[in-house]
Amino acid sequence: MKGGAGVRLGIMGGTFDPIHYGHLVTAEAARTAFNLETVLFMPNRLPPHKKDYQVSEAKHRYLMAVLATITNKYFEVSRIELDREGLSYTIDTLRALRAIYGSGAEIHFISGADAILDLLGWKDVDDLLALCYFIAATRPGYELSEQLQQLQEKYPNRVFRVEVPALAISSTDIRQRVRRGKSIKYLLPESVEYYIYKHNLYRMGEKYR
Ligand code: ATP
Ligand code: MG
Repeated sequence: MKGGAGVRLGIMGGTFDPIHYGHLVTAEAARTAFNLETVLFMPNRLPPHKKDYQVSEAKHRYLMAVLATITNKYFEVSRIELDREGLSYTIDTLRALRAIYGSGAEIHFISGADAILDLLGWKDVDDLLALCYFIAATRPGYELSEQLQQLQEKYPNRVFRVEVPALAISSTDIRQRVRRGKSIKYLLPESVEYYIYKHNLYRMGEKYR
């Protein structure tokens, strides 16, 4: 990892259960559009919004992210949230990254547009927006939602948009497909597909959804 002032960093946080081409395409689109030197994929330890279903073990989600990012020299996987006790709050992660990369680091938090809107419900929104930029991924040709427009107006030059073509892919759909014995080919890297089968993930009936 590069350190020092001024590093342009992207953060792609998520459960990544499993990581898929939606995540990867979004990260690459944001990297090129915003000239990011590194995109850190950051699997959550215990996502605050997703405690209602069984999340796969951290080691599996981490290793799938490593496998998926291996072919992109600008992508790295961070264990910051996995290795920290308790719930993952983005604000804590951003503060930890500032401690590592310095106060001059330009941190861009990349997320689906829907997840950015959840931001309105996060704690310390003003603090968050002072600490980083937000890049909202939307489908090509779609208007920004009214809420997102309002957010952009309220925080000019802190909230941006990137258009990505692969938005219909979701981890939920992939888990369901595996459980039902349907193909997941071409929705995620082949290495991750084989990892899922090798470790028998997402086949435990009601445990996953
Ligand atoms: P789940 O279906 O379990 O919610 P997910 O596919 O939404 O999983 P997450 O790990 O929840 O994946 O998402 C991590 C981040 O990636 C979030 O910011 C989310 O908005 C974004 N994201 C998820 N799927 C896509 C996609 N197909 N295209 C672009 N961004 C995505
Ligand atoms: Mg999601």
